Amino acid sequence: MARVARRRKRRIKQVKRVRKPSRYFQCPRCGAMTLTVDFKKLDSANEKLAIARCGTCHLYCELRVPITLDKVDVYNKISDLAYENRLDECSRPTSEEDSEGEEEGSEEGEEE
Ligand SMILES: [Zn+2]
Repeated sequence: MARVARRRKRRIKQVKRVRKPSRYFQCPRCGAMTLTVDFKKLDSANEKLAIARCGTCHLYCELRVPITLDKVDVYNKISDLAYENRLDECSRPTSEEDSEGEEEGSEEGEEE
């Protein structure tokens, strides 16, 4: 690793937000670094489905987002929602409307 320690970190004055493309984000609800964001294809060519999940507090959040958004953008959106206490707005699947509670039981079974 020929990386000289960079003393001069460029400080961008901003709210503390995850910038590097990491797999895990800090969960806005419980604060653990176990939040993941996944994408699913939608029928729409302009939109995709973003799914955020926290392995610690089992936060679950689905959002339809523009196809150009990446994980960090989605994470920022979710942080905003959490901040405004609106996480429940996206906490249920939008894609399958008639699968009530079906998945809840199965998710608790798989613990590592
Ligand atoms: Zn959490």
